[in-house]
Amino acid sequence: MAKLCPLFSGSNGNSYYIGSSGSGILIDAGRSAKQLETAMRAHSLEPSDLQAIFVTHEHADHVQGVRVLATRYHIPVYSSPGTLQAMEELGILNGKFPVEAIGENGVSICGMQVTAFPTSHDSRESVGYVVHTADGRKAAFATDLGYFSDAVFDAVLGCDAVVMESNHDVGMLQNGFYPYYLKRRILSNTGHLSNAACAGELPALAQSGTTRFVLAHLSRENNLPQLAYQTALCSLQTCGMQEGLDFQLMVAPPENLGEKAVLF
Ligand SMILES: [Zn+2]
Ligand SMILES: [Zn+2]
Repeated sequence: MAKLCPLFSGSNGNSYYIGSSGSGILIDAGRSAKQLETAMRAHSLEPSDLQAIFVTHEHADHVQGVRVLATRYHIPVYSSPGTLQAMEELGILNGKFPVEAIGENGVSICGMQVTAFPTSHDSRESVGYVVHTADGRKAAFATDLGYFSDAVFDAVLGCDAVVMESNHDVGMLQNGFYPYYLKRRILSNTGHLSNAACAGELPALAQSGTTRFVLAHLSRENNLPQLAYQTALCSLQTCGMQEGLDFQLMVAPPENLGEKAVLF
């Protein structure tokens, strides 16, 4: 059985642990190394057991802890060539830990196979990840999506567990205090996915076999956990799916000190 822990989620930092039987990987490390260590230990995970960090893109909320954590435990870091280049320019890659560009066939690590898929976001070469676990399960990590492209759809379809961005409520964003340029950026095709856009994709995923949904990367200013949750739930219920019976639905909290994990 695999364990997925959303350690941090949202504009203040993102990091997800996935693994089984004592070893695993992080998808993003967007908080300080100390905060990441504390969150992992709260889930009874040891940072020194980490086998790799996979980075989605170079924005601070995804890479903040990479340099210190990877240096401290000598953890290999993987990402797309463009993201690694951007991380190099930002001074994150210091030569003290292995770095590798992820190719088309992905990477095999601690019994898992990790593949990347392109996402549409205002960064150098952002990606999402699909993790094939040792016991034949699949989990997808799809956040920072300007829109839900065919590439994203193809990657997440059929996954047992899906971490999916549900960033903002469009009404809250439009009526909120963000400056116009920022609203436009978030709503653009290289920004972030709204609750409604996320919810609209869930029935197809549920019908493809997804039973665990984690709504992620919620905006603190332009969303409410209950709103994201209800929007997703309504969408899944309208296609006849029942919570608890056909699927589990969770909102990833901004900081998760051991309360929430997904087993699949
Ligand atoms: Zn970003
Ligand atoms: Zn982000």
